Amino acid sequence: MKKIIIAIDGFSSCGKSTMAKDLAREIGYIYIDSGAMYRAVTLYCLENGLVENGQIKAEALKQHMDKICISFQLNPESGRPDTYLNGRNVEEKIRTMQVSSLVSPVAALDFVREAMVTQQQAMGKAKGIVMDGRDIGTTVFPDAELKIFVTASPEIRAQRRYNELKAKGQTVDFQEILENVKQRDYIDQHREVSPLRRADDALLLDNSHLSIEQQKQWLKEQFEKRTMI
Ligand code: C5P
Repeated sequence: MKKIIIAIDGFSSCGKSTMAKDLAREIGYIYIDSGAMYRAVTLYCLENGLVENGQIKAEALKQHMDKICISFQLNPESGRPDTYLNGRNVEEKIRTMQVSSLVSPVAALDFVREAMVTQQQAMGKAKGIVMDGRDIGTTVFPDAELKIFVTASPEIRAQRRYNELKAKGQTVDFQEILENVKQRDYIDQHREVSPLRRADDALLLDNSHLSIEQQKQWLKEQFEKRTMI
């Protein structure tokens, strides 16, 4: 069967990655979490003195870009890819609130986006890929055969994120998460380079009231429709 590119965009914490990962595993495609790449750059900033008073030192980061190598390796236990930063597994570290609160300003920097988009396009060259993010259907793969735009209310997304972090044993505050979700939505939609928006040809999925099983089923049906043509 002909392999395609599946682009899944949408707001933060709306379950994009869960559905994207599961679909990729089921259909034997590669899954790439593009948000993890921006998170890894953010972690690099935190670990290398590139954050001052809560602000990213953009000029200094620019000089470091060629020292930042991000890759993914399948975790045999979870069956899902883990994120590596310069050869080190950072899958857990990039999911903290500290990284979440700085990632959107990092992702708004044009030179960061340029570097990440180039790597993402290279990963999709052979097709057979499911990538999720904010600009996959608009900028990274504007010709993707299947594009989905996922949304849900900020409160529902914050609750899902709260449950996820709590389950991992992190101490979290619901209001702080809700503020972070709203703030990231705003920055992602209003930045100059590749703002978050629904591509004209993307299918809209509001999963506020869908279970994970229901959205997985819906996505699988869309994939089958596209590949049976
Ligand atoms: O998907 P996730 O919430 O982990 O992404 C973290 C952040 O990375 C987003 O809030 C957004 O600012 C940025 N991002 C982006 N473009 C992408 C993926 C993520 O700007 N393709």
